[in-house]
Amino acid sequence: MRNVLLVKYGEIAMRGKNRYLVENRLIRTIIERLSPYAGYRVYKEQGRLLVVNEDCEFDYDLVIPLVTVLPGVTAVCPCVETEDQSIENLRKIALEHCREHFGEGPVTFKCETKRSDKKYPLTSREVSADVGGFILHNIENTSVDVHDPDFTVMIELRNNAYIYTKLIEGCGGLPMGTSGKATLLMSGGIDSPVAGYLTARRGVEIEAVYFDSPPYTSERAKQKVIDLAQRLAVFTGEIRLNIVPFTETQLHIYESVPPEKMTIFLKRAMLKAADKIAAENGSQCLVTGDSIGQVASQTLQAINAIDGAAENFVVLRPLCAMDKQEIVDIARKIGTFDISVRPYEDCCTIFVAKHPETKPKKSIIEKMELKIERLDELVEAAVKNRQILDLK
Ligand code: ATP
Ligand code: MG
Repeated sequence: MRNVLLVKYGEIAMRGKNRYLVENRLIRTIIERLSPYAGYRVYKEQGRLLVVNEDCEFDYDLVIPLVTVLPGVTAVCPCVETEDQSIENLRKIALEHCREHFGEGPVTFKCETKRSDKKYPLTSREVSADVGGFILHNIENTSVDVHDPDFTVMIELRNNAYIYTKLIEGCGGLPMGTSGKATLLMSGGIDSPVAGYLTARRGVEIEAVYFDSPPYTSERAKQKVIDLAQRLAVFTGEIRLNIVPFTETQLHIYESVPPEKMTIFLKRAMLKAADKIAAENGSQCLVTGDSIGQVASQTLQAINAIDGAAENFVVLRPLCAMDKQEIVDIARKIGTFDISVRPYEDCCTIFVAKHPETKPKKSIIEKMELKIERLDELVEAAVKNRQILDLK
């Protein structure tokens, strides 16, 4: 008998032939995450994964927070594993487990049994009724409620038996790296880190790009982006951040276009640069934190006028249909909010016009852009001179 962690995963089951590849990817991700700690191993067990410790006592307080944040994990259950599946042993273990977890005071519960070993002498119902009755008689202040119990005592009979009462929700989505790679345009704001998180949750590896405009933006603004990337790495594993020096490009655009169109051209230049970085790093798309109507550069007309600037890759905007409050809620949940609201300027706030154009015409913007001399050259130089940080 030993304490283990059962890891449940969702959509992988639907992925046909790819299933094994995707499962193995999740196993590798969990192994990597637990590699600094001695003794942890991961096994496949009939549609679930099991984390065990072969050397010492399982440390749930350590392991659960490390595993639940991983994309692809839908839930984890701290549980007891036992080889001896006799009904006497199941009773005994379930009772001990419930004593530990029920706590003080009146508690309602039910037992639920899953049996993959159909040769087992009792049916699932019989096991549930037997073990449930035993718990009821041996722990005071308990009653059975099959509809809305405080605890569901799960008994799974597989190669071994597994008994647990607690199910802790995980990140959901798909394991990292099973859906390709994206280049995320990440400013220090609230939105883009959330866009990065949601994309990563779908199994997409993320590489981030930040456009830095010193001295108009400070060291501290840059540090904020580094901290945000590091926070995202809690979910994604190691993350690469490209810091692109954009002052020269930005000043040049500022001098070349009417102020009310500045943001449109600046965003286009950012997409052009990110597009080049994405082509180098093997991405299949770009990701931004745009949300329809949030600011002048995010009207549908503006998004259209900006969009064509990326030559090679589609630009995904996972937040486009979300309300600010919904985005903020996710930012708080993933721990990026407090970093994002630190009060340091970003490059767009400095060059932004009082009355930016909200309905730019794509064809006009494209024609005007052709007249900005040396634009491609400046963008290329900025990309070439970027600083690369690998963060974890
Ligand atoms: P955020 O909260 O992500 O900063 P925002 O609401 O401030 O977004 P904008 O400043 O219009 O909106 O930026 C829209 C998107 O453009 C951002 O979500 C981000 O993807 C990208 N972006 C803007 N500024 C930068 C920057 N300095 N570096 C990298 N990406 C940027
Ligand atoms: Mg911003």
